[in-house]
Amino acid sequence: MIKTDILIIGAGPVGLFAVFEAGLMKLRCHLIDIVSVPGGQLTELYPKKPIYDIPGYPKILAGKLISNLLKQAKPFKPGFTLGERAESFKKVGDFFEISTNMGTKLQGKVIFIAGGLGSMEPRKPKISLIDKFERKGIEFYVKDPDAYLNKKISISGGGDSALDWAIYFSKKSKYPINLIHRSKSFRANKDSVDKIFELSKAGKINLYLDSEVFSINGRNNHLKSLSVKDRNEINYTLETDYWFPLFGLVPKLGPIGNWGLDIVKNAIKVDNTNNYSTNIKGIFAIGDINTYDGKLKLILCGFHEATLAVHGAYEIIYPDKKKTLKYTTIQGVSGFD
Ligand SMILES: Cc1cc2nc3c(=O)[nH]c(=O)nc-3n(C[C@H](O)[C@H](O)[C@H](O)COP(=O)(O)OP(=O)(O)OC[C@H]3O[C@@H](n4cnc5c(N)ncnc54)[C@H](O)[C@@H]3O)c2cc1C
Repeated sequence: MIKTDILIIGAGPVGLFAVFEAGLMKLRCHLIDIVSVPGGQLTELYPKKPIYDIPGYPKILAGKLISNLLKQAKPFKPGFTLGERAESFKKVGDFFEISTNMGTKLQGKVIFIAGGLGSMEPRKPKISLIDKFERKGIEFYVKDPDAYLNKKISISGGGDSALDWAIYFSKKSKYPINLIHRSKSFRANKDSVDKIFELSKAGKINLYLDSEVFSINGRNNHLKSLSVKDRNEINYTLETDYWFPLFGLVPKLGPIGNWGLDIVKNAIKVDNTNNYSTNIKGIFAIGDINTYDGKLKLILCGFHEATLAVHGAYEIIYPDKKKTLKYTTIQGVSGFD
């Protein structure tokens, strides 16, 4: 059983910054995210785009901001449960207990919902048997890359995620990687596209352009092969142990919508005069997922909300202790030089 002070749902920029602010007040955090890598929208939607409105950074790539936030949180040793969705919660004594879709149970004295636009659910292709073989060869997230090494891998998609994983696996696998894309051109970063064509020439990636998977075949309750056809209706059978259809993620408020929280237009109503608390005592909502008069969905606003929510959490966790604001310039941060 994972037990901590603050359970944070969502490892986007706001959840990650909350870890740092909590650490300054000696509160421990554990983050849960359905996506298998931290970073929220910045990692999933625009890792290579520059952001210009982070204070102190005239320009910073979204991916770099996330690696900086992880570095800033590291001294406080946050725990991570990635690739799992927070499904339900109940009260167990003084703790909230969250259960995930994979059955993991986690307890925290306080919950921060930093779920952004909602949990990022994969866009699933409409092919029969897709549900039957999900997690039995059909994988919508690359949860543990090493688990797939030296297996026959096929990837579908034309965006950054599909290309980045094709490049990653092609460097490590003894089999060439099949990359299937329904168009001739890719939407991904130009460097990645150039690399894909290079690896294709070197025989490390088999490219199937203008092509789509139209059926899946399994044996012994596991994926065995994919049937692919191109625009000229020419069919191929690709022997495949693992197929990653990486067609992007769609945010959904999901199960949190049924937790008894005040929901207004798909967002959680919070009291912005009381540390971004929700209508359930001990549950706070910060970042893109919350709403209040004047709300702006900006990273820097989420950072502010995270800071105040940590102060609210402290008052709940230590009701009898005096809370003082100490500057980091005065007290320093252990773990940093
Ligand atoms: C293209 C684009 C450009 C942008 N440019 C800027 C900009 O220049 N400046 C700026 O300030 N903002 C910008 N934004 C907005 C910014 O990305 C968001 O404000 C920010 O990502 C919000 O952070 P967050 O941590 O609240 O949520 P998110 O980044 O959305 O992260 C939330 C995480 O919570 C997870 N989650 C949700 N529910 C669950 C659940 N039940 N279980 C498990 N995990 C869950 C999600 O999977 C996700 O990973 C941009 C957004 C986009 C799309």
